[in-house]
Amino acid sequence: MTDLAELAVAAITDLHHPVKMETAEWAAKDLHDPALGERDLACEFWAEGWQRAADRGLLAAWVDPAHGGGGHDVITSLLMYEGLGYGCADTGLAFALSTQTWTMQPVIEQFGSDDQKARYLPRLVDGTVKGAFCITEAESGSDTFAMATRFEEQAGDGGTRYVLSGSKAYVTMGPEADVFIVFATKDQSMGKWGVSAFLVDAGTPGLEPGPNRPKMGLRTTPFCDVHFNDVEVGADAVLGSIGSGAAIFSHAMEAERAFVLAAQIGAMERQLDQTVHYSRERQQFGNPIGDFQAVSHRLANMKLRHDNSRLQLYRSAMLFALGKPSMEAAALAKIQASESAVDSSMDALLTHGARGYISEYDIERDLRNVAGGVVYGGTSDVQRNIVARMLRR
Ligand SMILES: Cc1cc2nc3c(=O)[nH]c(=O)nc-3n(C[C@H](O)[C@H](O)[C@H](O)COP(=O)(O)OP(=O)(O)OC[C@H]3O[C@@H](n4cnc5c(N)ncnc54)[C@H](O)[C@@H]3O)c2cc1C
Repeated sequence: MTDLAELAVAAITDLHHPVKMETAEWAAKDLHDPALGERDLACEFWAEGWQRAADRGLLAAWVDPAHGGGGHDVITSLLMYEGLGYGCADTGLAFALSTQTWTMQPVIEQFGSDDQKARYLPRLVDGTVKGAFCITEAESGSDTFAMATRFEEQAGDGGTRYVLSGSKAYVTMGPEADVFIVFATKDQSMGKWGVSAFLVDAGTPGLEPGPNRPKMGLRTTPFCDVHFNDVEVGADAVLGSIGSGAAIFSHAMEAERAFVLAAQIGAMERQLDQTVHYSRERQQFGNPIGDFQAVSHRLANMKLRHDNSRLQLYRSAMLFALGKPSMEAAALAKIQASESAVDSSMDALLTHGARGYISEYDIERDLRNVAGGVVYGGTSDVQRNIVARMLRR
């Protein structure tokens, strides 16, 4: 067996894999924030926590050491993120870190020029620069390539310039970001063939992130619309080449779908442990509530969903690492993990009774946090479209 295959077997069979447990224990201590409840209500990001995670090497995980990365393989990196999700109660912070790690950085590594990699990756992984990924628009969500944000090419003495105009919506980390990956079209009628991606620095004239938009869950992840009012950039801002936006988007989405929920899978395990503990402690009718079959079956269902989500996560990771087609596996993993987390959060809430519903405990926050998982990175319907398309082949 190769080292990677051995590691995948260990990740799947050992729920307490040392890489995961070390990160979980570190996160439970160093990312513990007594003010989390208030920050969640106030929709406040924790910059200090972000920096601590960067110092721990979480953002560096699977980035090439040549660019300041940790150079870990994908399985080790996922174990780290599962551990992060288990130990860090600030799910919004874990989500923000996951988005940069699994969506933004891989795209720069895969498609960036040497200069772009040297310019951005070392500072993204050491936490000094934060990134955001801008594709969705108010009028083009699932129908991504119907985007209206345009770029215009202008030839000049100093070389070609590109002028971006339009607005992006729901951009994770938008209010905090120092660099944005922006998708824009040359001509909306060209569909995906017209789309290109650009790296645009915060502070470029005309780039205006809007205010933080309050949302149901993941409230500690800042999130906003971003406006581009004739934002001018040079050819050195083009990611890949002009016209390669669709390929870049597909690469980003395959990794995001498959891996971005690793931390949430870790959080599902924490929720299961908490719920099992509560079902042993809480007594009604003279018995621990876990003795009632209805309750114990709910716990068994939570365990089943968690196991299935992990299995699909590591299967996708192995396919990805082996360079085998992983689109269907990634879509299945996304559906499994995101929908399981919603179902299990409802089961945890019901098992905790009123304590599950009030804000003093994590339980109601878990439900609000995981609801976004069935929407971001492509809704569950869109993932099922992918699976159905593959079945028809
Ligand atoms: C927490 C969070 C973070 C996000 N972060 C980012 C980010 O960083 N960057 C970014 O660009 N975007 C981000 N998004 C936006 C996200 O990618 C979009 O919300 C998502 O793609 C869906 O688009 P929409 O909201 O416009 O819904 P719509 O596309 O309008 O969908 C509405 C409904 O119609 C269904 N539907 C639409 N088309 C089809 C179809 N062909 N077949 C079946 N059903 C269909 C959908 O499944 C859904 O139920 C984020 C969203 C959330 C919730």
